[in-house]
Amino acid sequence: MNIHEYQGKQLLRDYGVAVSNGRVAFSPDEAVKAAKELGTDVIVVKAQIHAGGRGKAGGVKIAKNLDEVREYAKELLGKTLVTHQTGPEGKEIKRLLIEEGSDIKKEYYIGLVVDRATDRVTLMGSEEGGMDIEEVAEKTPEKIFKEVIDPIVGLTGFQARRMAFNMNIPTHLVNKAAKFMLGLYQVFVEKDASIVEINPLVVTSNDDVLALDAKFNFDANALYRHKDIVELRDFDEEDAKEIEASKYDLSYISLDGNIGCMVNGAGLAMATMDTINYYGGAPANFLDVGGGATAEKVTEAFKIILSDEAVKGIFVNIFGGIMKCDVIAEGVIAAAKEVDFKYH
Ligand code: ADP
Ligand code: MG
Repeated sequence: MNIHEYQGKQLLRDYGVAVSNGRVAFSPDEAVKAAKELGTDVIVVKAQIHAGGRGKAGGVKIAKNLDEVREYAKELLGKTLVTHQTGPEGKEIKRLLIEEGSDIKKEYYIGLVVDRATDRVTLMGSEEGGMDIEEVAEKTPEKIFKEVIDPIVGLTGFQARRMAFNMNIPTHLVNKAAKFMLGLYQVFVEKDASIVEINPLVVTSNDDVLALDAKFNFDANALYRHKDIVELRDFDEEDAKEIEASKYDLSYISLDGNIGCMVNGAGLAMATMDTINYYGGAPANFLDVGGGATAEKVTEAFKIILSDEAVKGIFVNIFGGIMKCDVIAEGVIAAAKEVDFKYH
């Protein structure tokens, strides 16, 4: 599950991790009010969507007075922002972060991920932060440093300082940067995050070391123990079919193809998609109805698959060993009665 930048920054603030001051706004009036409360000379108006690349796409505006704040807020709210992460259809901006402008000396990158190769949480950092980190990873991967974290010991002060030195953080700010990383690790672990990315982490002219951006992703399997995180969910940012599927506890992911997939077991679902691709087709979805699906669940699954206009046919692939096939058949019949099936 993803959250917005302003929510991520609040989470960091709660853990004593340095972020700039800011407030969320849903209208131009709220944006101006927030800017007044912040009271700084430079105010940044930032589109809040669940995608990065906003800066390059015109979703981050620097305002020098309240009139400009209003102007930018009006321009951004309701606009569909297309970034390299949104896909060509873009995402509509419904919220803004009104934030104090920072006098940036240098932009860095810092992040934590669960690294499947080492089975460990790994801290990654680079002095080449800012908007082109993907390019750095591709062309000059040696500029990205890693610290593999022992789960029993946690991120150590030594590792955090070594990372800060590797990133060429000015020597007198190494301890501040290390404190930032230790706080970041604490949030990551306590909230069961799977990714946290601070790009950029900045050093300012006042010698502050703070997060100017914050991207969080949380492990969906651990959400049951984080009610506070679940409350941050923004349904506007999610695929309507996936939301519907989650109500029925179905593992469903929307894809771009036209062959709907109705499968039980995640492995079989993956293999089915691979097979479709292998023969030149394109799956419209990933769907695992699970081992103990009821006829009702199967009916709902069918309805969700059929609500995708791109779907031209459905491939049902059920392994009878973990699921009674007549339950699936009942579900298919029930769905056929409820929905207007078109036969080709
Ligand atoms: P995205 O990653 O989606 O492009 P960011 O939040 O990283 O969005 O913002 C893009 C760029 O805008 C940053 O790299 C930084 O240079 C600038 N920026 C963002 N927030 C601020 C701020 N509060 N003060 C000054 N510059 C900012
Ligand atoms: Mg960024």
